Amino acid sequence: MQKRIAIIGGGIVGATAAYYLSKLPGSEKIKVTLFDDGVGQASKAAAGIISPWLSKRRNQQWYRLAKAGADLYPELIHDAQLGTDVYQQTGTIVTREDEADLETLFALAQDRRKTAATMGDVATLTAQEVQDQVPLLTNPQPGVVITGGARVDGAALVNGLLASASKRNLKVSHERVKLNAQGQVITSLGARQFDRVILAVGAWLKELIAPLGVNADVRPQKGQLIELAVKDYPLQEHMPVV
Ligand SMILES: Cc1cc2nc3c(=O)[nH]c(=O)nc-3n(C[C@H](O)[C@H](O)[C@H](O)COP(=O)(O)OP(=O)(O)OC[C@H]3O[C@@H](n4cnc5c(N)ncnc54)[C@H](O)[C@@H]3O)c2cc1C
Repeated sequence: MQKRIAIIGGGIVGATAAYYLSKLPGSEKIKVTLFDDGVGQASKAAAGIISPWLSKRRNQQWYRLAKAGADLYPELIHDAQLGTDVYQQTGTIVTREDEADLETLFALAQDRRKTAATMGDVATLTAQEVQDQVPLLTNPQPGVVITGGARVDGAALVNGLLASASKRNLKVSHERVKLNAQGQVITSLGARQFDRVILAVGAWLKELIAPLGVNADVRPQKGQLIELAVKDYPLQEHMPVV
């Protein structure tokens, strides 16, 4: 019997779920519908820096999840036959003004490296070496480089994964949907029943599952991203992230 699965949200999480559902053995018996209106999607807006290893957050569950995500990228990109325009291990450099802070950071990096092979090599760089790698910097500081750090183009990744899954068992519906108290998906054509519903709506989870009587602890985090175009500067796609 055919199984019907709904995915609500088509950012990086929903698109990855759709991709793996299309690759499952017996996927021809699974019909997947992904609902997404694309409004405000974080995956398209993100800077795409993949480098969770030096985070000092105490939340170990978060760290394990973020680390597993970083570990998955090379395999996912290879399997989905996506290229370096989508994901590239350019390396990341984390700088510190103070020598003692740099040593602490390096020790943390070495420790994390023991359980995170994707990090690649870890080394300290002098201020001059940092500037050699990122000539744009006018006042460089010494830093720690992690060669496995990467950059992902979220929009290109999502498009690539959805295009691949659409060749098999995925249908994308560009609309905003709701859930009712019975867990049915309320679409423009009415309530639809699915065997499973995957919620991948990111920041919108709280409002989506409120009708089920479940409270999701999703809160905003304020930040700012400034994108600069540097005049007369050659585009260096291989430059590490600082
Ligand atoms: C400016 C910015 C910079 C960032 N930079 C980085 C970075 O450098 N490195 C990093 O690791 N992370 C970064 N992030 C975080 C990262 O982008 C997110 O964690 C990730 O993209 C979340 O993916 P997602 O699939 O969960 O959600 P999203 O990508 O937000 O996708 C959710 C989708 O669900 C859709 N949706 C919501 N409700 C409904 C509904 N009811 N019906 C239908 N569709 C619905 C939305 O329209 C959206 O398309 C950044 C985020 C932002 C905003």
